[in-house]
Order: sequence, then C-alpha cells, then structure tokens
Amino acid sequence: MHELSITEAILDVVLRHAAGSRVTDVHLTVGELSSYVDDSIQLFWTELSRGTPAEGAMLHFKKQPGTLLCLVCGNEYPMDTPDFQCSSCGSAQAAPHGGRECYVDSIEVCAET
Ligand SMILES: [Zn+2]
Repeated sequence: MHELSITEAILDVVLRHAAGSRVTDVHLTVGELSSYVDDSIQLFWTELSRGTPAEGAMLHFKKQPGTLLCLVCGNEYPMDTPDFQCSSCGSAQAAPHGGRECYVDSIEVCAET
C-alpha cells in the first residue's frame, strides 16, 4: 500500500508547481521495476486531489524500462538484453540499476481560473 505515500508526494509536487492554477493533466514516469500499481495511484489520486486545484486532473503513466549496471566496466544497458550480457564489454556481471523510480514528469494547467 505504499502507493498512498507516493500519491501524496505526487500531489504535493503538482500543487506546488501549479501555484493555484487548475491542473488538467499530470504526466508521471514510473519504473517498470517499481512495484507501484497504476490503478492504485489513480484511486488514491481521486481521493487526495478532491477539493484541490488538481481535482479531476488526468494521470498519464509513462513506463521506464529497467536497466542493468555492468560491474566490470560501469556501462548501463537495458535489462531485456539477451543473457544480461554487457553491450560494452560482454561481461554478465551486472546489478539491477534503473527502473524503480516514480516521479512527476510534467504537468499541464489551465490558464483560466
Ligand atoms: Zn561491461
């Protein structure tokens, strides 16, 4: 249920950037390796944004694919690479790197109040 806290954080960022303007759209980037569920965030969003300038804003989710970090040469490459082999040095010693993030990409506000 950690979607509640992330949604609170998202709303906080959105309201701060909107500075009182009515928010129409919120674009989010969510890592594919994060365990955040779009539907849960949407649900909490509807609850939390009620009565704020962001009420009724559309949420748009953009998935960020996971990446691996090569432990040999430090190269970062996509997790869907065959055999997890580093695209730079060919090593298969890698650690999961990107793909766990969840943040506000951009917001759209309505000029009319
Ligand atoms: Zn490498």
